[in-house]
Amino acid sequence: MELLDLRSANDHEEVAFRQDRATGLRSIVAIHSTKLGPALGGTRFLPYPSEDEALADVMRLARAMSYKSAAAGLDFGGGKAVIIGDPHLKTEALLRSYAGFIDSLGGRYITTEDVGTTEEDMNVIGKYTTHVTGTSQGSHDPSEATAWGVYNAMRAVTEQRLGQPTMAGLHVAVQGVGKVGTALLRYLRAEGCGLTVADTSDEVLRHLSRRADVTIVPTEEIHSFPCDVFSPCALSGTLNEKTIPQLRCRAVIGCANNQLATPEAAEMLASREIVYAPDFIVNAGGVINIAHEMGGSYDHDAAFDHVARIADTITRVLAMSKAEDITTERAAEKIAEERIYA
Ligand code: NAD
Repeated sequence: MELLDLRSANDHEEVAFRQDRATGLRSIVAIHSTKLGPALGGTRFLPYPSEDEALADVMRLARAMSYKSAAAGLDFGGGKAVIIGDPHLKTEALLRSYAGFIDSLGGRYITTEDVGTTEEDMNVIGKYTTHVTGTSQGSHDPSEATAWGVYNAMRAVTEQRLGQPTMAGLHVAVQGVGKVGTALLRYLRAEGCGLTVADTSDEVLRHLSRRADVTIVPTEEIHSFPCDVFSPCALSGTLNEKTIPQLRCRAVIGCANNQLATPEAAEMLASREIVYAPDFIVNAGGVINIAHEMGGSYDHDAAFDHVARIADTITRVLAMSKAEDITTERAAEKIAEERIYA
């Protein structure tokens, strides 16, 4: 599909490109919507196999950010950026050039960290543009807030659909124990949950193997491990034609972006009577935390109280899905669209 067709088919306001031979920068910024405010979303730094794949990814992720902020009731639009390349080879010169690109967008896009970028990178970018957040001077890495939101979403689903008042005694299978997964395990352990995990990183597995209360299974088995809640916290597209028939859980609640490989995946989960808590509602903790940073002086407790209200949004999604006989994904989209397209 041609770029302009792609842009209008996905309803994006703007897609910008920047190439800088001197530093090796190759970057794309996609702004899906600024209807509710500046487009907020992270910078993903990855060695994409092709520019087409980078473009498709950045546009999809930008749209998801619009829906995430809108459903969370935040006055932000949705945007995302990618830098094509090996994140291990990034230099200050490249980040300075990238910051210049962000700056040239005049505040319509505000960046933060994402896969392949760090708080330290945001500090460097922050030397050259003000349109950055998640720096050491601000609300720091959003992962802790994201995990707190996932945990609160789990509590809401447990109470309303799994038939018990707390998560004590439930078994949770976590796919990916990185920044968010690690913090999530802490909350679940404190609540008395049984825990099974999988990760591709030897370092992560070495660390987890020291814990007696966590069972490790191979990555290709985690989604089919018998449990109450399956929690995708690693990749996009985990819920697909192949994996959904193999799930042995009662609910799916995790932080990974774009968990549904296709729109039909939501229907497949519903027909198996597995409760799906839509990812862009569940994983909004990070962006809510950032909204507090940008609102002036940052108050951790106020931000985390706000993140905990993700439980209320999930409650609304579950009620709407039941009342209108639609999937939870469609209910969540409707809640976001009420604001984006009002
Ligand atoms: P991370 O990179 O710290 O952790 C991801 C973990 O998944 C790593 O330990 C990695 O080794 C593991 N992994 C990769 N492939 C795997 C596989 N096939 N099976 C099992 N494990 C695998 O990332 P993170 O910050 O914890 O974020 C996790 C997911 O949540 C990402 O999809 C991210 O986009 C999304 N997300 C994160 C935040 C946040 O605040 N960090 C906010 C919203 C959404």
